[in-house]
Amino acid sequence: MASKYENNPAIKNFVEYLKIPSVQPNINYDECVAFLTKQANSLGLAVKVYEVVPRKPIVVLTWPGKDPKLPSILLNSHMDVVPVFEKSWTYPPFSAHIDDEGKIFARGSQDMKCVGIQYLEAIRRLQDQGVQLKRTIHISFVPDEEIGGHDGMKKFVVTSEFKALNVGFALDEGMASPTDEFIIFNGERSIWQIHVHCTGQPGHGSLLIPNTAGEKLRYIINKFMDMREQEKKVLDSNPKLTIGDVTTINMTQIYGGIQSNVVPEKLTVVFDIRLAVTSDLDKFEKMVQKWCKEAGEGVTFEFEQKNPMIECTKTDNTNPYWVAFKSAADALNLKLDRRIFPGGTDSRYVRGVGIPAIGFSPMNNTPVLLHDHDEFLKADIFLTGIDIYEKIIASVANV
Ligand code: ZN
Repeated sequence: MASKYENNPAIKNFVEYLKIPSVQPNINYDECVAFLTKQANSLGLAVKVYEVVPRKPIVVLTWPGKDPKLPSILLNSHMDVVPVFEKSWTYPPFSAHIDDEGKIFARGSQDMKCVGIQYLEAIRRLQDQGVQLKRTIHISFVPDEEIGGHDGMKKFVVTSEFKALNVGFALDEGMASPTDEFIIFNGERSIWQIHVHCTGQPGHGSLLIPNTAGEKLRYIINKFMDMREQEKKVLDSNPKLTIGDVTTINMTQIYGGIQSNVVPEKLTVVFDIRLAVTSDLDKFEKMVQKWCKEAGEGVTFEFEQKNPMIECTKTDNTNPYWVAFKSAADALNLKLDRRIFPGGTDSRYVRGVGIPAIGFSPMNNTPVLLHDHDEFLKADIFLTGIDIYEKIIASVANV
C-alpha cells in the first residue's frame, strides 16, 4: 500500500518537502527556497523572495488572473516546524516514512507543509484543465510562524511589497479534526502576558510583620484564579463552546525573594491570558488596575505582550469571499465547524491590516497531532485535501 502512494507525484512533492529539516530554532531556509523555486518552475509561476529580515525569506509564487487589477487571493503557509524529541518517534521525524496504512509520518505533516503542497497541487490541476481564474493568486511561504512570526508575516504585512500584492482575501492554517467535520477558523483571541509586581515590607522570616509582598501576591493570584474558575464553568456548562470561545488565564511564572528566612521586598507573578473575542479589553485592564489597588500599596503591573483586539473575519453574506468559500464547501458536501483559533497564527497579522482571512487545513477524521510526537497525515486525506482546495481556490478566485 505504501508503494501505491510513493509513486504519486503530489505525495512525492510532499515527502520531499517534509524531508527538509526546517526545524526551530535558527533555521537555514535555503533548502526550502530552492525546493519552492523548483516547484514554481514546474508550474510556470513567477517566484519572488522577500527578505524583510536577512536570512528569513518570504517566498511568493504568483499565478496571474484574467483580471489582475482585482484584489488578489493569498494562500499562505509557514515553512518552519517545531522541534522534535526524536526518541519518542516511531520513525525518524524527517524521513516522511509511509507505513502500510498510508500514514505519512513527519514533523510538519499536519502543521503545515501539507497545506503548502496542497495549494500547489490544486493549482497544478487547475492549470492542467486549462483554467485561468479571474483573480491573481499569490502563494506565500513564510518563516518563523512557530516562534510568533515576528520576523516573518508580522513585518511583511506592513511593507510596500506586501501592499503591492493587493490582497483581498487570505487562506491560512487551521487544524485537524478527529470527526467527519472540517474545522475552520475566522478569528483569534488577544494574547496578553502580564507581570504583576507586589512590593512590601521586608524583614525576618520569624515575625508577623504587616504589609508584606506575599499577602498582596495572594490577593492578586486569587483574583486571577477566581476569574479562571468562572471561565472554566462557562466552558464546561455549554458543550457547544470550545476553548477559543472563552478567556483563558494561566499562572505561568512566580519569581522573587532572596532567602528562605527573609520576607522579600518584592514578589512577581506572571499570567498568560488569551482574551475571548467578545471581551472588552479596556474593561479588563481597568479591572486589573482595580485588583492591584485593592491588593495594597506598591502593587503594579506591566505587559510582556499586549495584543489588540482584531476583528474576526465575517462568515455571512456581507463577505463575498466567504460566500464563495462556503458554496464550494457545500458543493463538496463538507461539514464545517466554525471556531475561534485557540492559539495564535499568522492570520492575526493579515486580519490586523484589514484583510479577511480563514484558517483551514483540510484534515478530517485525523487525530490532532500538531507539535506532538509521531505527527502523521494519511495519504488519502492529503490527496482529498487537494480536491477540496481545487474547488475552493477556484471559487474564491472567481469572486
Ligand atoms: Zn502551524
